[in-house]
Formats: sequence, structure tokens, C-alpha cells
Amino acid sequence: MPRAWTVELRSHASGLLLVCQQCPQAGGQVAAVSARSAALAHLARHARGDLLPPHLRICQCHERGCRWHPRHRGCDGPIRLLLACERGGRLWRLADACSACAAATAQAAVVPDTALRATLRQSPTARRRPRQPRGPGEQIRVREMLSYLAAALPPDASAAARLLALQCTLRMDAAMHVRLSKGLLRSLRLDTPGPWHELERARWLRSAPARAANELVAELLDATLLGQAPARSDRRHAADWALRAGCPSRAGTAEPLVQLASVYLAAHTDPQTGSGWSELEQMARAGGTEPAELPHVFDRLVATRLLRTWNAGPDAEDLHWTLEDRTRPHTAQRPS
Ligand SMILES: [Zn+2]
Ligand SMILES: [Zn+2]
Ligand SMILES: [Zn+2]
Repeated sequence: MPRAWTVELRSHASGLLLVCQQCPQAGGQVAAVSARSAALAHLARHARGDLLPPHLRICQCHERGCRWHPRHRGCDGPIRLLLACERGGRLWRLADACSACAAATAQAAVVPDTALRATLRQSPTARRRPRQPRGPGEQIRVREMLSYLAAALPPDASAAARLLALQCTLRMDAAMHVRLSKGLLRSLRLDTPGPWHELERARWLRSAPARAANELVAELLDATLLGQAPARSDRRHAADWALRAGCPSRAGTAEPLVQLASVYLAAHTDPQTGSGWSELEQMARAGGTEPAELPHVFDRLVATRLLRTWNAGPDAEDLHWTLEDRTRPHTAQRPS
């Protein structure tokens, strides 16, 4: 079975209709507010029900003549699951793709390697993979999760909701529950009901009863693709890393978009040189904003002395920056 699945959300007299190209009989009507979750959940079921050992997975993009992206030099790099969104969220595709094809595909994100492999590993033929090293590993996990959330969260999700979603996905357990202490939320200035309610309305999470007064508990509904993580402590370190990168004392302000930008820049900065690069468009999607809004954010970050320099290049497509020394992503420091 080729590991590529496509789900379409079609307008319908009374809402939206979920139509799967692989199992047309299985679709059905979905509410607009939860259509995105339903599409991702459906795709995740296919991917999970159709596991292949890594060495048998091939680039499904290449198999189809690389029609999903502009021309590039050819397939390269490891095969990962790529989640792509077309037609403004009306078409979702999940497919095995090589790194080169993944990088060339617009509106797409590599699904962070956590879920589907966990089940695979229990099979007798599965080989143990070396765990991601600490240090840069945390940065890579945060980077991948930001990219995944840019595709998976509703495009109009606020920056505060995105900061919260990032902490939730990195801290959830195998049952996709997450408990966050109020102290942690306070340190990110997320201790208000707004972002929770926003993610609840989008059917991204559901509040669950807390065991203690100083915590909030939620079940993640839209993280189906992330399922159980094989190396949870690594994700937790990544969550702490993102917390440090986004806290107001580092960003210099408690504005959620600026805090989120601070996490994004840290996740895309070379720790050795303190410089980084990103597509402007990609960063805007991760922040739920427009590229035209970002220069204001960068100016703020220069004012708070997080950024030393930035420029968006002649075509205003690529963004280059250098962080101030004190704000470089440091991975050696462990949370106490
Ligand atoms: Zn299906
Ligand atoms: Zn391709
Ligand atoms: Zn390829």
C-alpha cells in the first residue's frame, strides 16, 4: 500500500463533508469548527494502520512525479511523514516524502518523529534507533513542532494559543493528556483563560479535571499524529528549552507574538554563530500572522536587545538575523 493519503473538505448545504480519496465510504459530515481536527485524525488513522519498517518506506512524492512542489534537484535525505495543506485548508495530504521533496513543498510540515514509530518498534523486526542527542536535539524538536503546529493549528489561532499549544504538544503523555502547572503558565504570561478557550473552541484540546489546585489538565484532540512519543524526557527538555526561549524576561516583553517570535528565532539560530535564516512566509505562518506584520516584531526585539540585526533581503522573502550574545540559544543549561 502506498503511504500517501488525501482528505478533502467539501462544502455542503449544512456544513462540510469530509471525503477521503482512499476510503470514500468512510467520510461524513463535520462541523466547520472541528473539520481540521477531523481531517488530521482521519489521516493519522491511515498512517497508523499502515506501518512499514523505515527501510521499506519510499518517497511517495517522487512516485507521483513530484507534482506537489516546484522542480528541484531530486530526492534526497531520510523519508519522513509530510503533512501538506492545499486550497486554504480544504485539502489535506499525508505522505511519506524525502527531505528534499518535503523542503520544496509549500504549506507543508514534517510530522515530528514521535508517534507512528512507537508502535512499529514493538514488532520483532524493528530496530532500536539511537535517541536524539541532547543539546541541539531540543532545538530541532522545537523547530519541528513549530513547523508542525504552523500547519496543524487553525491559521487564525492567536500567538498566545500557539505558545500554549507548543507547551502542550511537547509535554503531553502517551495518552495525549497534558498537565501544566499554573506557575509554568504564569512564567509565560499564559495564566489567563483566553488561550485555553480558544484551543477548546477549535477542538484542539479539551479541559480535563485537575488533581491539584495549582495545575491545569487537558486532553489533546488534534495531536493525533503525534501519538505516543518514544523518548518523552527529550520532549520535556525541549518544552523547557521553549519555555526559556519564550519567557518575557528573555523576549523583553509579555506580548505573545513577540514571545513566540523569540522562540522561533532561537529555534532557527545556529548556536555556534548566533545567526539564523528563515523564509519570512514560513515564520509568519508559525506565528499566525502576515509577513508584513513581522518587521514591527523584529523592531521590538531589537529594542528589547534580543536581536542585534535583521534584514529581509532585497525580495523580502528570506529573513536573516543575528541574536545578541546573551540571547543565543544555549542548550547546556538544564532546568533545575
Ligand atoms: Zn480514509
Ligand atoms: Zn517530490
Ligand atoms: Zn522525494
